[in-house]
Amino acid sequence: MSDVSGKSVALIRGNAEYQDASLEPSPEIMKLWNVVHNDMRGEFGEAIFRSWLKPLTLQAFYHGTMEVSVPTRFMRDWIQNHYAERILAMCVEASEEIKRLQIVVVQNAIIDDEPIEAKPAKANQNKKIDLSEVSSPLDPRLTFESFVVGKPNALAHAAARRVVESMSVPFNPLFIYGGVGLGKTHLMHAIAHAIEDQYPEKTVMYLSAEKFMYQFVKALRSDSTMAFKEQFRSVDVLMIDDIQFIAGKESTQEEFFHTFNALVDQNKQIIISADKAPGDLAGVDERLRSRLAWGLVADIHPTTYELRLGILQSKRAQLGADVPDSVLEFLALKVTSNIRELEGALNRIVAHADVSKSAITLESTQEVLQDLLRAHDRRITIDEIQRKVAEHYNLRMADMHSARRARNVARPRQVAMYLAKQLTARSLPEIGRKFGGRDHTTVMHAVRKVEELIEEDAQIAQDVDVVRRALTG
Ligand code: ADP
Ligand code: MG
Repeated sequence: MSDVSGKSVALIRGNAEYQDASLEPSPEIMKLWNVVHNDMRGEFGEAIFRSWLKPLTLQAFYHGTMEVSVPTRFMRDWIQNHYAERILAMCVEASEEIKRLQIVVVQNAIIDDEPIEAKPAKANQNKKIDLSEVSSPLDPRLTFESFVVGKPNALAHAAARRVVESMSVPFNPLFIYGGVGLGKTHLMHAIAHAIEDQYPEKTVMYLSAEKFMYQFVKALRSDSTMAFKEQFRSVDVLMIDDIQFIAGKESTQEEFFHTFNALVDQNKQIIISADKAPGDLAGVDERLRSRLAWGLVADIHPTTYELRLGILQSKRAQLGADVPDSVLEFLALKVTSNIRELEGALNRIVAHADVSKSAITLESTQEVLQDLLRAHDRRITIDEIQRKVAEHYNLRMADMHSARRARNVARPRQVAMYLAKQLTARSLPEIGRKFGGRDHTTVMHAVRKVEELIEEDAQIAQDVDVVRRALTG
């Protein structure tokens, strides 16, 4: 077909049949590929290896080009975008002879340039995907009965109830969003249980966005995309948890978008959860984002003291444990991050009392939860750090944000950046913003500089130590 430097490189992709035998990789190259291929497990991890890289097959080697194949176009694009660069680097490291990596699609029934979707499904049409395999199991404990309603989650709860009680589809989709551990998954399971109880004839499918993607990829690989599509389009209620997972995953988004539209057209209920509002889902296609916001968007706010206490009381009743009110109040006051941690704290003190056969008291609670409480108590802010550093060096707070570069101001500012990196969970760009909108590279430089200075300059080392103690002691 084509001719490169006098050599016939005609090859028919699609059946892996090479007309020119000289393209066949030599035994050395085959051996080298086997080693590199095997090393990918370590490099990328077992899960990625199994989902994506295992099927890579060496096809040919010519003029420094390593040609490897995968069974589908989708896989080729995915590997190309995510792993190809590192794979090439691994090959180059193994042999300098290798200059390029070419990933081609080779599968018996597929002609390379035909999109996977367009291929007739023939024998695969009958391949059914088991619904129970696609849908995730529901946790029997996550019901409406065990869900404590308070101000922060009242809207989401009311919307969830509406979906169950309405005979028709009240809004589509219902989009529930909120931070980690605030009850999104709990509400979704509650809806699924309630629908299954009240309308046993309805098919409810609940799964995480991650599982959706996994199923989709699996369907592509086993040639059962038709069955996959049919399966998803035949449900009455589709729930996808943690949709933010599909950010940046274009093919999955595309597939989800089509499923979504097909179900909305048939007036089937869709329920989605995410950690952000639809408009804030970075890496999600604009058209999908706006579609997600079409129905009712309900947010779950961070907990209040009342809600935390209510949840602890309900949980205490469930556990049948003897926990004094003062302990519940203490926990509601101290563990404010999210409900998962709050439950975890209660479980720990109950378990401890059980094992040590002692009563639960405020003192024992403080002792058992020492590490957790310390983490919550000592949440040092960048402002505090800046204030303490300014105080120590006799500067004004404004000097922390100013553009002044005089040594006597710049150095303390670098110390403050260093401490901000060390004592808070803030990222470099976030720290930069807090220091008068500086770039993250400036912060990185400051951190390295101070690390160096601590080694070389006893005065700086002492300054850093004094300020750190003042902040943490
Ligand atoms: P998310 O999915 O938002 O990260 P989950 O739904 O997994 O959070 O909730 C975390 C834990 O907190 C679960 O064990 C859940 O049962 C519990 N929980 C969350 N909200 C409530 C609530 N309002 N009442 C009772 N338990 C709750
Ligand atoms: Mg969840």
